[in-house]
Amino acid sequence: MTSSPARFSSELLLKRAGKNPIFFFDFDGTLTSIVETPDKVEFKRITKFVLEELSENYPVGIISGRKLDELKKFVGVRGVFYSGNHGVEIKGPGLKFVEPNSAKSVGYITSLSRQIERVLRPYGALIESKKYSVSVHYRTVKPHLVQKLLFDLDALVRQPLKEGKVKLLRGKKVVEVKAPVDWNKGKALELILRKIGKRGKPIFFGDDLTDEFGFEKVNALGGISVFVGRLRRTTAAKYRIDSPAALVGELAKFLFLLS
Ligand SMILES: [Mg+2]
Repeated sequence: MTSSPARFSSELLLKRAGKNPIFFFDFDGTLTSIVETPDKVEFKRITKFVLEELSENYPVGIISGRKLDELKKFVGVRGVFYSGNHGVEIKGPGLKFVEPNSAKSVGYITSLSRQIERVLRPYGALIESKKYSVSVHYRTVKPHLVQKLLFDLDALVRQPLKEGKVKLLRGKKVVEVKAPVDWNKGKALELILRKIGKRGKPIFFGDDLTDEFGFEKVNALGGISVFVGRLRRTTAAKYRIDSPAALVGELAKFLFLLS
């Protein structure tokens, strides 16, 4: 882990990846600003335009914690690899994948998600049932209730955790309950790379704890790892950029430099 990543720029991208970049992005907080609840997200037209331009020339993958279909609907760029549920489901040119053990857990996760919903919704939490996982978003919960909510969540998942039926994943004001599989954004990235089968420099942009798997993977592959946002923790990312808007600006500049 390094705590002082260097500044990311279009010049750096050009120098390190040249004409062979392979782009991977997280979605929320990376291509969009963080909002109060996931349904309020705003995917800007300029961001879509830049992604369309990138995908005309280079492979592009978007790997999110959201449900795949929802992610695809939000982004709406053709010819891109989409991955939802932190890499568990992937769809893209010539690729359709669901991590096999997650597929087996759908029934169990669905019934657990109903229980979680019943107990935690009264707190004002947003419970998002995502087939292979369930997210408990507590950004909208009053601060004095958060500890109690996390305590109740803990009580709900204690037994399933002990029995190895679920795994927890923490992010920004969200806890995800998912199938107990050893699968993550880094592994999804690697699978997509194999499918693309082209030589190039993988670059991963992300902002949350779950993106560390992506950073570590591209580091191991000799690629470029970029943290987006203000850094308040240690990260495996080697580079950093201030905001989603600044990132889109640098990508546009990169396209300009190459045109
Ligand atoms: Mg994110």
